[in-house]
Amino acid sequence: MKNLSIRVKITLWFTVILVFITFCTYMIVFSVNRQLLQKTIRDELIRTVEDNVDEVEYYRSIGTADPQEVDYYMAFGGGYLEIDDDFLDKVNEVYTSLYNEDAALLYGENPISKHTASLGFADSKIQHITINGTLYYIFDRKLALEGLEGLWLRGVVSENQGMMQMAAITRLLQLFLPFFVVISIIGGYLLARRMLKPIQEISESAARIGSSGDLKKRIEIGGGKDELHQLAAGFNEMFQRLEDAFEAERQFTSDASHELRTPVSVIVAQCEMSLEETRSVEEYEQALRTIQRQGRKMSRLINDMLDFTRLEMRAESYVREMVDMTELVQSVCFDMAMIKEKGISLNYEAGADIKIYGNRQLLNRLLGNLVTNAYRYGRENGFIFVSLKRRGQNVELSVSDNGIGIGEGQQQKIFQRFYQADNSHSGIGTGLGLSMAYEIVQFHGGEIRVESELGRGSTFFVDFKI
Ligand code: ADP
Repeated sequence: MKNLSIRVKITLWFTVILVFITFCTYMIVFSVNRQLLQKTIRDELIRTVEDNVDEVEYYRSIGTADPQEVDYYMAFGGGYLEIDDDFLDKVNEVYTSLYNEDAALLYGENPISKHTASLGFADSKIQHITINGTLYYIFDRKLALEGLEGLWLRGVVSENQGMMQMAAITRLLQLFLPFFVVISIIGGYLLARRMLKPIQEISESAARIGSSGDLKKRIEIGGGKDELHQLAAGFNEMFQRLEDAFEAERQFTSDASHELRTPVSVIVAQCEMSLEETRSVEEYEQALRTIQRQGRKMSRLINDMLDFTRLEMRAESYVREMVDMTELVQSVCFDMAMIKEKGISLNYEAGADIKIYGNRQLLNRLLGNLVTNAYRYGRENGFIFVSLKRRGQNVELSVSDNGIGIGEGQQQKIFQRFYQADNSHSGIGTGLGLSMAYEIVQFHGGEIRVESELGRGSTFFVDFKI
């Protein structure tokens, strides 16, 4: 069963259900029909016998009988019995016969008289008797009018009559039902094939994309909104995300190698220059300092890249907990105020008891990056101000400086990986600090933006939802 195609499975299920329903329908029709027929036969039996009750009359002498009538007369109990010519001795397979008290047949027909002889009379009751597998209904009626006392009418009918109709219906059903079932199976199979065609196209397209490795290709199954079109759209969305992820990966590798190439080239050039010929001590010192600077830069770059990749690729490895932001801001600012670079002073204002759900290490890193930049791009004897406050449903963290500022055209780009604005001539940055900050804010479901003016300073705002 497992190896069968969905198309065949659907058809098989469909067939089983169809045959079951057909069988049930047949059984219901058969049983209802049988009951109806039995009732009709019994009603017919009773009606015929009852009709015949009035057709038997008693006359003391034949002279009192109506001479116009061409009826049947027989001597009975000192007078005569007149059997009207309307007496239905056989109609619709119902036989009616007249018996005396001793169960002797006086008039009419009874095809099973041999078998019913021993069956006592039961007034206005239906009795059953089965002869050679055929069921017979027997209905007796006691005649009560004057002179008729002791006489019985007995009606007999076999179930066969109705059963022949049933057999005809059954034969018809037996002939046509398999025909309908076969037609339905063929129809079901064709329908399943037609409906499952898009699935085949989806799997072929997916296999084509998989084997060619071309993530730019998409599954085309035309317009529509049904489940299969949704499935195809889901696949296409997945291919789009895969393509984006591969593109981001490729871009990152290319950016990283580009960024690393410069320090490596500088280091190699400095070494070659120093080894070419004997240099003065100052020149060696100069070369070693350059190599040290570039080495540090590479080390920072590699660390930043590793952190960045971890956050981008394995964000789930950072646990989330309730983080006391008030305490975090106080401790980061306290530590970083010690830097006192370029005579810059760092002050802060943190609202009491502000907590958010997040990762302490990343939030530390976020504030550290913003404050580091504020120092790096701050002016001599300038200031840095860090603020933490509640703003409606949000928590707002901001870092302001009165440093060199960022040009308007570059304010959006600075959050991109490895991007460094024109103002960045320090040579110590990696261009990853703000993109890391951006990823951290994203991780916490917040937003980051900058307000800045060239030559006047910048403020970075981060909004967290509580
Ligand atoms: P970098 O390692 O170069 O500092 P970042 O991603 O941290 O990289 O920042 C990107 C660029 O944004 C920096 O190169 C700098 O040009 C600009 N920048 C960031 N912070 C500030 C700031 N406080 N003032 C002025 N410019 C800034």
